[in-house]
Amino acid sequence: MTKKHNTENDKKQNQFNKNVLTFVHFSSLSNSLSFCSMVYIGETRRTLDKRLKEHQYAVKRHDEKNGIAVHAWNSNHKVNWLEAKVKERVENYTRRRITEAVVIQSLPSTSNLDNGLELNPTWQPIIASL
Ligand SMILES: [Zn+2]
Repeated sequence: MTKKHNTENDKKQNQFNKNVLTFVHFSSLSNSLSFCSMVYIGETRRTLDKRLKEHQYAVKRHDEKNGIAVHAWNSNHKVNWLEAKVKERVENYTRRRITEAVVIQSLPSTSNLDNGLELNPTWQPIIASL
């Protein structure tokens, strides 16, 4: 009975963690809690856990197309996997991509390799004021 209850909770939790926008942070020194100001913004229609596993694998194999891996290797900074959080849950793919692009472009520095979805420049003053 307890097991069934847990499974249902897990399912609910997994469902909740799908279609998410996430923030991944770095530590500026290995084995240190001093934070690096860099942040990585990502979106996935799958769960945060699955996406993080892919990022971890990318870091392991020095994937030059992965913004987390590139920053971790170039700066010798450590990825705070445990600090990775779901910032927003957005079901609609286009809305999620727009939200991701707005967040990336509103931050002073991210380890993202691109700005995400190309937004009409008319939005820039609004994004800059966020
Ligand atoms: Zn860093």
